[in-house]
Amino acid sequence: MKVLVSSCLLGEDVRYDGNNSSITMGSSFTFSQKEIFMDILCDNEIYSFCPEVSGGLGVPRVKSEIVSANKPFKVETIEEKDVTIPFLIGAKNALDICKEEDIKVALLKSKSPSCGNIEIYDGTFSNNLIEGQGLTARLLEENGIKVFNETQLESLNQFIQSN
Ligand code: SF4
Repeated sequence: MKVLVSSCLLGEDVRYDGNNSSITMGSSFTFSQKEIFMDILCDNEIYSFCPEVSGGLGVPRVKSEIVSANKPFKVETIEEKDVTIPFLIGAKNALDICKEEDIKVALLKSKSPSCGNIEIYDGTFSNNLIEGQGLTARLLEENGIKVFNETQLESLNQFIQSN
């Protein structure tokens, strides 16, 4: 199966702070989670994608949060610069790849203003999480693409097995 995966989860240094969120190297993941992830990588066609880099933002970049989570969306850096457009472009580019390649499932990094599928930071840059989705995760799900995050590897694996 084809799976779109957040580049940072694959170990690419594309995060805003120039680091990655590697599952295989990360100390917050159990051996079992790493095994499931490696099986997913080995048994499927993986498309590495970072919406924010694709949208034209550099690495490193200034930290951003969604300050308006309802349409019209607004994303700002901690310095109050409006970066909504590159976030929207990144989301659209992710959807375009999924449509072109017939990708039906994505594994995206949790809590990110682009990739988060369940929770996002609340736009105050105070580390408060609220229920919500990043712009890419939301657009993919609105278009029928199933999105999982790195804490849902077993569910992702089950989804892959049953499709
Ligand atoms: Fe990772 Fe997504 Fe942030 Fe890119 S936009 S660094 S893929 S969480």
